[in-house]
Amino acid sequence: MNSADDRRRAGYRNGGTEVKVSCPRLSLNDSLEGEVQAFLTDEDQLHTYDDLTKVNPVTPTTVLKCLQARYSAKVFYTHAGCTLVALNPFQPIPGLYSLDVMKEYHYAPQPQEFKPHIFIVAEEAYRNVQGQLEPVNQSLVVSGESGAGKTWTSRCLMKYYATVAVTSSVVRSQDTVERIEKRVLDSNPIMEAFGNACTLRNNNSSRFGKYIQLQLNRCQLLVGASVQTYLLEKTRVACQPANERNFHIFYQMMKGATEEQRKEWKMLQDQHFVWLPRSEKTVEEDCFNETVEAMVHLGIDTERQNQIFRILAGILQLGNVSFSSSTDESQPCNLDEQSKGFLQRAAELLQVPAEELQTCLKVRTLKAGKQNVLKPCSQAECSVRRDCLAKVIYAQLFEWLVTFINNSICADRSMWCNFIGVLDVYGFECFQINNLEQLCINYANEKLQQHFVAHYLRAQQEEYVSEGLKWSFVKYQDNQSCLDLIEGSPISVFSLLNEESRLNRASDAKMLRVRLEKELCDNANISWDKFSKVPHFTVAHYAGKVNYQIEGMVEKNKDPVPPELISLLQKSDNRLLQQIFTEKEVESQTSKGLSKVTVVSKFKNSLESLMKILHSTTPHYTRCIKPNPDCKPLTFRKEEVIMQLEACGIVETIHISAAGFPIRIPFKSFIQRYGLIAKYSGSGSHSVDLEADSDGVLQLEVKNVLRAALHCLSSEKHSSLVHCGRTKVF
Ligand code: ATP
Ligand code: MG
Repeated sequence: MNSADDRRRAGYRNGGTEVKVSCPRLSLNDSLEGEVQAFLTDEDQLHTYDDLTKVNPVTPTTVLKCLQARYSAKVFYTHAGCTLVALNPFQPIPGLYSLDVMKEYHYAPQPQEFKPHIFIVAEEAYRNVQGQLEPVNQSLVVSGESGAGKTWTSRCLMKYYATVAVTSSVVRSQDTVERIEKRVLDSNPIMEAFGNACTLRNNNSSRFGKYIQLQLNRCQLLVGASVQTYLLEKTRVACQPANERNFHIFYQMMKGATEEQRKEWKMLQDQHFVWLPRSEKTVEEDCFNETVEAMVHLGIDTERQNQIFRILAGILQLGNVSFSSSTDESQPCNLDEQSKGFLQRAAELLQVPAEELQTCLKVRTLKAGKQNVLKPCSQAECSVRRDCLAKVIYAQLFEWLVTFINNSICADRSMWCNFIGVLDVYGFECFQINNLEQLCINYANEKLQQHFVAHYLRAQQEEYVSEGLKWSFVKYQDNQSCLDLIEGSPISVFSLLNEESRLNRASDAKMLRVRLEKELCDNANISWDKFSKVPHFTVAHYAGKVNYQIEGMVEKNKDPVPPELISLLQKSDNRLLQQIFTEKEVESQTSKGLSKVTVVSKFKNSLESLMKILHSTTPHYTRCIKPNPDCKPLTFRKEEVIMQLEACGIVETIHISAAGFPIRIPFKSFIQRYGLIAKYSGSGSHSVDLEADSDGVLQLEVKNVLRAALHCLSSEKHSSLVHCGRTKVF
């Protein structure tokens, strides 16, 4: 039994006055009718409530007060029924994640009895993997807005498993054990160096989503891992929002390179790179050695590393190239002397012919029948091509790295039987101007919210009904209509966007706007401000309304890469560039294969595979909360927090958890585990018939065991805590 819930229901006094609960509550359909207990909200004691289901009444305000009281008392984790709420302290808390604490939670017979902690979630998933009858894969879904602590939490979870899942006494080559856990952990600094950046909201903001599967063998030892990434924000390479930065790796190189490397990478000390803006924030940049060390551990040898860093240095040079229009429109744009130098160095670093690089950026090759027609690009078009080159190189390099990491840490399929997945995806985003990236990110959050609602809230309530428990339904916000609006068929924002992307018309933004208004006018989740100067549409997401700018959306969705650029890179003398651009997938990204892969269709597909995996696992949710927008240590801003609590529907979650049963065990497993009690107490059936395939027979057995157990514990009065359904014990 979940002891926290036991204590709550059993009337465990937590300093407050005991009263009857006023939130929606379960009523049972047989003689086990009982009451769920809770406590009066006693403000002095609020910080001691380690489960928000104990707060009474449960409202956004009382929940907020409780969290604030705990935060002030430096308690950062709180249960919210099935969910764990993690408040970001924004400063290291000594001892909170130490090896001793890990051990404490890992070896505890009932970790739930301990103070709420991310290690409870970790341990629960670890124990669940073995399953009652058969192993069940687990997913740890970590959500929250930017800066809330998702990546930090994911790292903690990985460290936990890399510690507890290798300390077993099972004989293994010490060498392998060390290598695998270290490699798995070493994937973090590399992915963060290449995929994270300093933004206005978080100095170490993940600019991609990540699902990492930790692979466990039959003995529950960590034998490998695999990573799946989602939608890297590649535009950042060539265009950084005001006061934000490029990906960490560039700064790490600038700061950490040796004199010799500097020379080789053509990076002078204090050289100005347009694509390396400095923000006011001071950011940890001294991690170059750590990143390189991690690369070495994962098997990226010095030669490969050098190829990688030359490519990155080439990108930086490219960013300093600027074009000026030619006086004669029929002639290509000009480059001033400085830009010529940058272009020359970019070509040297990328190991492509400089002349050809210049032509590719300035002249478009059009196909007219069997002939190629050359057309000079305008100044703006040249810049777009330059940016496009940088983005495609960086994105492909990132993908190559992920594949390399996977090859290095993934165990052979025959070696593992189960996994625990950790999902760390970007939180809901709402800026003043939102674009296709935000639409995709918010769509992903809608999908996750739906998964939460479907998998937990709805499934739990429906299960009570199907198991014959009387249940008064708790209302929750279903976001299906919003998802229909975004991804539904036949008509949705995505389908219209894809159609416009395929049609390739000059006035695509205007057409998209007209079609959205006309064809989606019946959907209550979308609206328009007809008088707005900047054409946009507004989507009512579960977490709030977001305005999306229409201009540029079709182009971003097409994400075209001129084929000339790809051919150029395929000719590079840099073996890595050659390799990553000859792989098949790149072809489909060039304009030839455009009709097939738009950004949103690719994203939708990858998200659908993720959802399939999530649905096949037992989920555990952690909601990270950012207590203040300035990332200040131990500062709690109520307005900031309440918005996040509302956005993730925490109050509904608490209501359902407070009124429901935290544990459900199928009859057979229950009898297997507890059948002995009836056998030896003499109060029940002596022969437990596990082979019985009728639920009716098993139910009788279960009732015997239950009666015996309650009798042994002298806790008949707590019979309301247990309910025998049609196929499971609750
Ligand atoms: P994004 O969506 O932008 O990637 P995130 O939710 O992943 O944001 P993190 O990068 O995990 O946010 O956390 C932001 C910062 O908050 C961390 O760099 C760290 O300084 C601090 N932080 C987060 N969690 C904790 C914690 N449990 N203890 C101490 N500091 C923390
Ligand atoms: Mg992150």
